[in-house]
Amino acid sequence: MAKILCVLYGDPKNGYPKSYARNSIPVIEKYPDGQTVPNPHAVDFQPGELLGSVTGALGLRKFLKDLGHELVVTSDKDGPNSEFEQHLADAEIVISQPFWPAYLTAERIARAPKLKMALTAGIGSDHVDLQAAMDNGVTVAEITYCNSNSVAEHIVMQMLSLVRNYIPSYKQVVDGGWNIADCVARSYDIEGMHVGTVAAGRIGLRALKLLKPFDVHLHYFDRHRLPASVEQELNLTWHASVESMVKVVDIVTINCPLHPETENLFNDAMIAKMKRGSYLVNTARGKICDRDAVARALQSGHLAGYAGDVWFPQPAPQDHPWRTMPNHGMTPHMSGSSLSAQTRYAAGVREVLECYFEGRAIRDEYLVVHNGQLAGVGAHSYSKGNVTGGSEEAAKFKR
Ligand code: NAD
Repeated sequence: MAKILCVLYGDPKNGYPKSYARNSIPVIEKYPDGQTVPNPHAVDFQPGELLGSVTGALGLRKFLKDLGHELVVTSDKDGPNSEFEQHLADAEIVISQPFWPAYLTAERIARAPKLKMALTAGIGSDHVDLQAAMDNGVTVAEITYCNSNSVAEHIVMQMLSLVRNYIPSYKQVVDGGWNIADCVARSYDIEGMHVGTVAAGRIGLRALKLLKPFDVHLHYFDRHRLPASVEQELNLTWHASVESMVKVVDIVTINCPLHPETENLFNDAMIAKMKRGSYLVNTARGKICDRDAVARALQSGHLAGYAGDVWFPQPAPQDHPWRTMPNHGMTPHMSGSSLSAQTRYAAGVREVLECYFEGRAIRDEYLVVHNGQLAGVGAHSYSKGNVTGGSEEAAKFKR
């Protein structure tokens, strides 16, 4: 019998939903590159249900009970007295979502001698100390592609929101106002602008494709160059460095994972290289940007706007400056957790658990760390090391 420790965000304030806004979600069988969506033997939920909160439990309760395993589901993840810490010592598998990450630092991994797998219900496993996982034989896996397209939709929404000045204009309506000049004094079209992505993996490439019909000029930087046919189809300008790209574009979107090479990439020096009046949209990870450098650049007006849904740590403390800085369009970390995305990542978690318990190989594309090495998507998109430093600050949200 295995103990599975699953950390999920709490239920809605008014309780677990009894009904939903829509009766169904579209059926998607394949991702754009031909990869199939998760295909477990079965699932014990209705697509479109809230699965990412504690009551939803990723639809795993019956499955794991029938197999005789113990499932602990909690949202109490931070600090030494958390429920997470109480169960860590004999957990074999830890499951957690990036939206409400259970930070698995080296210290926590050392306190979990039975731990065999850290499974990310989503994409982005930077909340795990990957170096410690490698050193301790812990497999790290995520559900590659499950919400990449979901995030790309959020990116386009946030770019348009910033450039067109949507959020303050919406607020005016709610507040009973009608001052058009105030609405438009910061409002532009994105048509004709230059837009660049740092990384053109699953999310970055999808964002480029969604943006193409807006008649913008598209740029990218990635450590893996795209095929020439894709560059031609989208009329992409490839840059040999982030610096070269940020100098010439009006909007930057960040779509690389957080790992030692990308931590604090957008610091004062990098932001200074961006054009005055640039917009920055970061749905990748909060720590890729220097928190205070972003706030300073908005205060000075060097950046015209910043949006995204990722923070460090998560949940963001009440006094996090990104809550109150000017001209921002932040949301809590939600872009990859739409009900549509949850259906895919809950099924993906079930698929990985079935493989694990049946002794079958986990899909290579889901692996981040395996057999003491970066593997699968980990070898392609991450680098060795640890970026969980400072995550204990997440406990401040509770106070
Ligand atoms: P992916 O693996 O398909 O793409 C990552 C890309 O980043 C790859 O092309 C890789 O070559 C590139 N890359 C890695 N390091 C780089 C570096 N130093 N410089 C330039 N390029 C680099 O992953 P994806 O599905 O596109 O997701 C990317 C990231 O987005 C995830 O790791 C995660 O952090 C984040 N994400 C956020 C949400 C959300 O809800 N906000 C959801 C999913 C993923």
